[in-house]
Amino acid sequence: MTNKQQAALEQASAGPGLFFGMELLGWYRSVKRDLPWRENRDPYRVWVSEIMLQQTRVDTVIPYYKRFMDKFPTIRHLAEAPEEEVLKCWEGLGYYSRARNLQAGAQQVVSEYGGSVPDDKTAVAALKGVGPYTAGAIMSIAFNRPEPAVDGNVMRVLSRYFCLEDDIAKPSVRTGIERIAAALIPEGAAGDFNQGIMELGALICTPKSPGCLICPVMAECAGRLAGRELELPVKTKAKPPRPELRLAALVEGAGPHAGAILVRQRPESGLLARMWELPHVLAPGGGSAGPVAAGSAAAAGPVRGRRRSTAALDAPAAAGEAAASPGANREARMALMGRALAEEARLLIRPRRWWRDAEHVFSHIRWDLQVYLADFGFVLKDAASAGGTQAGAYTGLAAEQPAAYMAGSGETAEAAQRETAASYDHAGLPLASAALVDRLPEGYRWIRQDDMKEMAFPNVFLRLLNDYWEQRESGCLPDEAEAE
Ligand code: SF4
Repeated sequence: MTNKQQAALEQASAGPGLFFGMELLGWYRSVKRDLPWRENRDPYRVWVSEIMLQQTRVDTVIPYYKRFMDKFPTIRHLAEAPEEEVLKCWEGLGYYSRARNLQAGAQQVVSEYGGSVPDDKTAVAALKGVGPYTAGAIMSIAFNRPEPAVDGNVMRVLSRYFCLEDDIAKPSVRTGIERIAAALIPEGAAGDFNQGIMELGALICTPKSPGCLICPVMAECAGRLAGRELELPVKTKAKPPRPELRLAALVEGAGPHAGAILVRQRPESGLLARMWELPHVLAPGGGSAGPVAAGSAAAAGPVRGRRRSTAALDAPAAAGEAAASPGANREARMALMGRALAEEARLLIRPRRWWRDAEHVFSHIRWDLQVYLADFGFVLKDAASAGGTQAGAYTGLAAEQPAAYMAGSGETAEAAQRETAASYDHAGLPLASAALVDRLPEGYRWIRQDDMKEMAFPNVFLRLLNDYWEQRESGCLPDEAEAE
């Protein structure tokens, strides 16, 4: 602990600490909000609420929490549910690993503790997805054990109250504040105390405009008395998320798939694991939305059962030359996207035009998505035949051979193969071994709007798809004539 923290720890057990605890408790008990997770102290309900509230505002969480508890009223319901249902219930809340870990933790509780959360901090802290904050919250709120629950709100309040200047981004500082918070807990009131300090941070001692004049602990707050409440806490800024330019295809079906959209499921693990999305690839030089640079490095996103694309690595000189205007830039990107998907997933699509841009921010990455409307072409039987130098011919070939496109949409695989072989021979391209199949690559499927009720999408794709269905329903999708 730093000297300042050591002094605060001593004060926590003396006058300023006793004052803080008593005033805070009295205030919390008189003003506490009526929130659905405060109906009772069931540890499962506390656990779910604390996980949902991480990085997420109370107002946003409330409807999700109610739906989640209706769907999974007990730990067993959650433990035994298909993961897809859990993710669907979490859809829109973000940070989906929280939902997966919560379910894994529930499964641990069922298998190791007969379905009841143990009244034991070590056991609770060992559950999947439960860190020191959540363990402290469960132990104090559900079991009234004198454990601290220190999150960003609590660090801010205590840094101000004790006028601590240590950088709260440092783990050692957090540990020190946890000791101070533990020393402040009034006997027998751990649950209310911890909820009270969180409530104070959320409602009064807010980051940008602390309401000192109505604060229950104002009289002894060292930060306010020193006039430093707006400077504290000290926190070094996290690195901003790294931008990635991603080219996404909104592929519209034809023939038996008319009215459907092509989506794919993400890999079993990693970012947004097992969620559904539009097919997309990382643009060459994908760190910005600037001009496409010929020959710059690129790789397609991690997609289940598929290899990383190298097609975009071979960005043709034409792409760089075409980068002079936004329209030409988009043309080049459409061509690159078509090639990358052909190589990566054996999908031949025909991008038509840019539709819109969208953004999805993770803690460490920001996806800048450019979404292009595209027609479905066909699926190649042999992934290897789509690779290397041949991949560059696909988009152009498809554009010149609409018959081959239609074959992939509705006719039999056999007819499609005949059509393709003829097209390739006629074109004189080295694609004689390529053949069409009527099966989509693993993880891909056609969906209609109703199918989305059973599938979990990250926010950005959820919004894009809902907007798309809505625009199409109301006839607002601009036609080709309106495209730039
Ligand atoms: S007096 Fe002001 S700075 Fe101090 S705890 Fe209250 S709101 Fe925060």
